[in-house]
Amino acid sequence: FLQGKSAIVTGSTSGIGLAYAKALATEGANVLINGFGDADAIEQARAELETASGARALYDPADMTRPDQIAAMVAHAEAEFGGVEIAISNAGIQHVAPVEEFPVEKWDAIIAINLSSTFHLMRAVVPGMKRRGWGRILTTASAHSLVASPNKSAYVAAKHGIAGLTKTLALEVAQHGITVNCISPGYVWTPLVENQIPDTMQARGLTREQVMNDVLLAAQPTKQFVTPEQVAALALFLCRDEAAAVTGANYSMDGGWTAA
Ligand code: NAD
Repeated sequence: FLQGKSAIVTGSTSGIGLAYAKALATEGANVLINGFGDADAIEQARAELETASGARALYDPADMTRPDQIAAMVAHAEAEFGGVEIAISNAGIQHVAPVEEFPVEKWDAIIAINLSSTFHLMRAVVPGMKRRGWGRILTTASAHSLVASPNKSAYVAAKHGIAGLTKTLALEVAQHGITVNCISPGYVWTPLVENQIPDTMQARGLTREQVMNDVLLAAQPTKQFVTPEQVAALALFLCRDEAAAVTGANYSMDGGWTAA
């Protein structure tokens, strides 16, 4: 149902972002992927997206800490695809430490990548969407856009910020055929989660098993990780014409975490 449409997904060389890109491609969209990683692996992922979609797939290495590179990435997609109808802000990093020990440069990086890059993406894609009278903007927030956990000050601040930013833009573009929504997953099994296990072990003095069961899955009543494919399926729904009335929403997909 996305044939003839074009999408940008930031932070899509891995995890949830790559699942979004695959889902969009499977529906026939042109997709621009972005993020860091091994060049051969990225090229393989890009080529597989073209095979899946029968449309085009581009890679742009824009660094989400750099507003100029984000604007250039959007210009790249608009020039190659002729427009960008769908933009998913997804790039994100994590760092786990108590506030008084939290490295200032980590705070700045998390606010830049997890929050400010979303603003820079939005301001670059909205003019084209307004001209065409149709657009879908999705942000990957988190259960941490609604609740907090200790030792994640920057991440929780950034994700609460994304929720507010998403609602604000939804109001601004509500009469232009553009919807703007947050998706807020609980723990999804991706490299981002796997990589925070050692730091959480250290910060809380726990074993790997204790972090998995008592910290991560402790929050999720289902006791199961969310999958990237489940998150991507929700994103596809929000891209449909039938979802035109859903805007300014923050959809939880967290195994019941924020119900508790
Ligand atoms: P991941 O580590 O698998 O993927 C992160 C992506 O962001 C990668 O493609 C990486 O290269 C990219 N990236 C990192 N820094 C970047 C930068 N400066 N510029 C451009 N790209 C950059 O992580 P993930 O779990 O798939 O996370 C994706 C999003 O989902 C993040 O915003 C994360 O906060 C959010 N999220 C994840 C979970 C979870 O449990 N995994 C839960 C809720 C929300």
